[in-house]
Amino acid sequence: MEELKQRILAEATVLSHDVLKLDALLNQQVDPQLTMRMGQEFAELYRSEQITRVVTVESSGIPVAFATAYELGVPLVFARRKKTLLADPDALVERVPSFTKGIVTDIVLSQQFITAEDRILFIDDIIANGDAARGLVKIIQRSGATLVGVGIVIEKSFQNGAQSIREQGIRLDSLVKIASLDEGKITFA
Ligand code: 5GP
Repeated sequence: MEELKQRILAEATVLSHDVLKLDALLNQQVDPQLTMRMGQEFAELYRSEQITRVVTVESSGIPVAFATAYELGVPLVFARRKKTLLADPDALVERVPSFTKGIVTDIVLSQQFITAEDRILFIDDIIANGDAARGLVKIIQRSGATLVGVGIVIEKSFQNGAQSIREQGIRLDSLVKIASLDEGKITFA
């Protein structure tokens, strides 16, 4: 998505060889018009797939997942991240490390909002090592729903998360692929 590449070049900051600060675009501020256009891109890719629900993980995936769900005319469901877990017999839970926070959190999704009849499009903001995505993929698989595909706004293709999802035979589409952040420079794939 060329528009997104230009916005990343203008508004993102390289923090290290593997971390890009995206507060201006994804993690603290969002541009509603740009976010809706991201949603349109994902919706176009999955329009013919009879998606019944869009699923994401709180919090930064929510705006673009909302935009995608709006375009597809289906509900958005977001998994919660919880540090402690109150026993909820209805919840599907996966424990995952957080790439940016350096802690482990539980990703929790109520079975009430994902059923075996669902055809799911999973949307998230960024994929790095893929821990968050693999956790949510496991939750979706355990629910019995069909995971139709994964849509990621920014794939850092020099890390192995996206590849590990594709190696499971799961379709993964990203709007922008970053090949390197070396020497403080953003290089697109
Ligand atoms: P993963 O589980 O794939 O290693 O990391 C995914 C999550 O970590 C993303 O949802 C995102 O919130 C965060 N993350 C990973 N890499 C970056 C990065 O370079 N910049 C920012 N801002 N967040 C990142």
